[in-house]
Amino acid sequence: MAIATGQLGPRVRWAFADRGAVDGVVPSTAPYDDFNVADHVGDDEAAVRAHRAALSAAVGVEGHRLVSMAPVHGNDVGEVGAPQPEPVPEVDALVTRIPGIALLTVAADCVPVLLGDSGAGVVAVVHAGWRGIRSDVVGTTLAAMADLGADPSRMRAVVGPAVCGECYDVPRERYDEVVAVAPAAASVAHDGRPGLDLRAAAVERLREAGVHVSLHGGCTQETPSLYSYRRDGLTGRHGGVVALLPETA
Ligand SMILES: [Zn+2]
Repeated sequence: MAIATGQLGPRVRWAFADRGAVDGVVPSTAPYDDFNVADHVGDDEAAVRAHRAALSAAVGVEGHRLVSMAPVHGNDVGEVGAPQPEPVPEVDALVTRIPGIALLTVAADCVPVLLGDSGAGVVAVVHAGWRGIRSDVVGTTLAAMADLGADPSRMRAVVGPAVCGECYDVPRERYDEVVAVAPAAASVAHDGRPGLDLRAAAVERLREAGVHVSLHGGCTQETPSLYSYRRDGLTGRHGGVVALLPETA
């Protein structure tokens, strides 16, 4: 199955797609095949729109009410107050308390996180690479959710597929910088060099704040059904969405 779905409590639905084609939806062609959801990698715009609409539909939201972002590997959070066609610029997380909007995060090795507090009616998405983990984009997102009334003890999160700590070898300097902030990222790569497990870092950051965390998917670089920039270079992005549903739904 190309699109997996679940709930983060009542009224909060999530979905993750891998790169597999979805029946009835036009696939992307190589090197973006089959289900790219990123609009910044050179893929056909109509195909990307169709994939985003299918992903959005998996959480019960119409495609024109999906909101994306243009990440810059920082820790700023964009609050979404209404659907908009353009990506929210220069943020690595989105938060909303508006029902019926699907927030999108895309990745191909970086860590995608979907969050919700159904009691407060607040949802968020995060995109975290090593710079994001270093600058605590997960923590700034939790703070932005709390500003809207969410409480970490009620929050649930699903952390999506990312490159694992054995595949992600990094220079010693980068390792030191990240592990100083996020000790859970410490890993050793296959070749014995320093490695970073960014997913473990994101999970630890969430759990230490009191968030209930579940995992979805495996290592992007080792899994042919997922996109991996490290493995393939020019390629697509898989994506995750989260949405708060209207009270009547
Ligand atoms: Zn791996």
